[in-house]
Amino acid sequence: MNTQDTIVAIATAPGAGAIGMVRVSGKEAFSIVNAVFKGKDLRLQATHTLHFGYIAEGKGTDAEQHIDEVVAGLFRGPKSFTGEDTIEITAHGSLYILQRIVAVCIAQGARMAMPGEFTQRAFLNGKMDLTQAEAVADLIAADSAAAQQTALKQLRGGFSGDLKQLREQLINFAALIELELDFSQEDVAFADRTQLAALIGTMQQATRQLVQSFSLGNAIKNGVSVAIIGKPNAGKSTLLNALLNEERAIVSDIAGTTRDTIEEMMNIRGILFRLIDTAGLREDTTDEIEKIGVGKSLEKMRQADVVIALHDVLLSDRETIAAQLAGLEAEGIRSLPVLNKADLLDEAQRRSWMEAFPQALLISAKEKQHLELLKDALYDTAIDQNISMENTVVVNARHHEALLKVAECLDEIERGMAMDISGELLALDIRRCLYFLGTITGEVEIDRDILGTIFGKFCIGK
Ligand code: GDP
Repeated sequence: MNTQDTIVAIATAPGAGAIGMVRVSGKEAFSIVNAVFKGKDLRLQATHTLHFGYIAEGKGTDAEQHIDEVVAGLFRGPKSFTGEDTIEITAHGSLYILQRIVAVCIAQGARMAMPGEFTQRAFLNGKMDLTQAEAVADLIAADSAAAQQTALKQLRGGFSGDLKQLREQLINFAALIELELDFSQEDVAFADRTQLAALIGTMQQATRQLVQSFSLGNAIKNGVSVAIIGKPNAGKSTLLNALLNEERAIVSDIAGTTRDTIEEMMNIRGILFRLIDTAGLREDTTDEIEKIGVGKSLEKMRQADVVIALHDVLLSDRETIAAQLAGLEAEGIRSLPVLNKADLLDEAQRRSWMEAFPQALLISAKEKQHLELLKDALYDTAIDQNISMENTVVVNARHHEALLKVAECLDEIERGMAMDISGELLALDIRRCLYFLGTITGEVEIDRDILGTIFGKFCIGK
């Protein structure tokens, strides 16, 4: 992608608003816009000023035609969003007008911007690091308070700050160890191995925390999917309706009725929980579920982040429930055992069930008993309680992957130091670790393809 030319795009959302904006950025931004701007000579005006005028096609010729009254906002680089000379042309919000303004700029030598290209230039010009650029995309897409808060924190550099600290400390050590290599004849140790070990320990802990925070980050960004499983008549539909707090009939006894996957949402402490495949609740998958064997039901459970294993407490025996729980655990499926129809039990029976399954919840879906407890338990099962939104939360899968690599490298360094490997090898391991840390913020050279993927997700004009 050419970063030397001047780019133009509509920056406001499609559809007619009261006003709309066209953004022009690059070396020729001022001369290009000036060539179509009827008013003061923009090239002579001070930066960070606004100017009223007209955008005119064929300016200065007999065929001169005004497209719209506009206000031009001038930003000279590097004090602009992209770091380049930028003009923001605010016009009336008609898509037709905005497109014609873009067209006259292109006729003067600008190029249509690619998706995310303004933000990409901001990154390439050092106005922000990669995590911040990615936060711009997240902020635009934010659909809940939690998503907006984490994206904004990232945009302000919270995450980058954490990483920078880790990186800088490690760079110090890398430098000292590499210095030792220059004096290898003399067998000196500049880098204090005890201090290095302590730093690696701290970094391991910090990295682990960031890696773990991704479960919350992912939940914030994508929601948590929940499947309710259980025998027919266990009360799955009743529970679903009670949780969603509305009497939505998803029951159909007529054979052959469509059973498309329906998704229903609920909000628990600011996180969206999606109850998946509620249409399939009535399917008779009983035996398979009990055996936690093969096939469809297992697949369905794997698709869910959390499984509610629902039992009719009157009809279930303890061995079967215990076997199911063990099976789910062995499969690595996060599950919440729930015993339903507690309203039909007497106090002694209830106590006896709680003693047998202290990890289970005793509820009544029909009488809406203990549903708040169930929601809390669902949240706690899905989200690691050691992670708080107060701390840095990793929301981006690319960052998560890189952090896993960093963690691997740190373990490698730890092992190497325990085995007293040579400074040369140690330096190599540290460099590798620094590389993966650097890929997150973009401090190391990043593959053009990766950049393309990151910025390609933006819309044009951002
Ligand atoms: P599903 O086949 O698992 O979806 O089960 P349903 O939700 O259709 O419930 C089966 C039957 O159990 C219905 O008659 C419900 O009214 C009843 N039921 C569900 N939950 C409870 C409960 O908590 N207490 C009692 N007493 N009955 C319940």
